[in-house]
Amino acid sequence: MSHADRLVVAVGGNATHPENMLGTTAEQEQVAARTAHVLRPLVTGAREIVITHGNGPVVGKIVLRQYYAREQVPPMRLDVCVAHSQGGIGHLLMQGLEDELVRAEEDRRVACLITRVAVNADDEAFAHPTKPIGPFFTAERAAELQTALGWNMVEDAGRGWRYVVPSPKPREILDLELIRLLAAQGVVVIAAGGGGIPMVARADGSYAGVPAVIDKDMTSALLANQLGYETLLILTAVPRVAIHYRTPKQRELTTVSAAELAGYLKDGHFAAGSMAPKIEASLRFLARGGRRAIIAALDDAVAAIEGDAGTHVVPD
Ligand code: ADP
Ligand code: MG
Repeated sequence: MSHADRLVVAVGGNATHPENMLGTTAEQEQVAARTAHVLRPLVTGAREIVITHGNGPVVGKIVLRQYYAREQVPPMRLDVCVAHSQGGIGHLLMQGLEDELVRAEEDRRVACLITRVAVNADDEAFAHPTKPIGPFFTAERAAELQTALGWNMVEDAGRGWRYVVPSPKPREILDLELIRLLAAQGVVVIAAGGGGIPMVARADGSYAGVPAVIDKDMTSALLANQLGYETLLILTAVPRVAIHYRTPKQRELTTVSAAELAGYLKDGHFAAGSMAPKIEASLRFLARGGRRAIIAALDDAVAAIEGDAGTHVVPD
């Protein structure tokens, strides 16, 4: 059985909405059920487990619906879109996991928490939006959207124009104590979907949602640190992290120290917006007390925890 006592598992976009599918509810249900099936040994074996997930393709589609419906229905602010994605993805994943627990004759339950994450109002990301959301548009349509919806549109390497949003650093998981409480009771917790709902503190100490999308890997690392867990498992679409990725010199990493990995990051081996945030998240987790960060393919989740798959990042 698994060797993880208390862990955060971050599942990537592929585990909720692979690029090659249309995105019908039936398809999403199947994908969630398969993800839940893969995670079952971890969910039944761990003492405490918190599952986080990405929302890229899903929030892109929510935004696209708003674009088509904008004349009839007022568009939702992006933090509300993120909350919707947490609810929709969480619902399907929760059902998939509960079905697996029933089959395993376990009496554990699953909870999905709408999770808010504080970011700094003066985070430099707000001045430099970088994260693309949703589809590509023509230059003409892009100009129209900028005016009609206030979207910040950026040209993407000759492929068209995209809506780009700020991706500020997560500073504090506002619903941490609820997650801790449920997880400590043995509840399987789905939390911080899509990196969490971005919130900024007002002068009086209350919070307001802001239009941004936080990186889910960075939030997962922060969450694992704040819960004091030993293991952060990041499940994605590749079996291992590679250096010289997609070149003849490509080499997959099996076990790597934080210092060595930090060197590769500095040397530009990891793509911004995909692998680099997972590396930064892993390094951050270890620097703040984590014992091991593992990056692996979804299907290898159990083997990765047992040490037989994935890239294992260990403290120096
Ligand atoms: P997720 O939805 O799991 O966050 P991403 O697409 O954001 O997935 O990031 C994972 C992807 O990063 C991989 O599928 C791979 O295509 C890409 N990638 C970029 N650089 C590397 C690298 N050096 N080693 C492995 N994968 C890399
Ligand atoms: Mg990603």
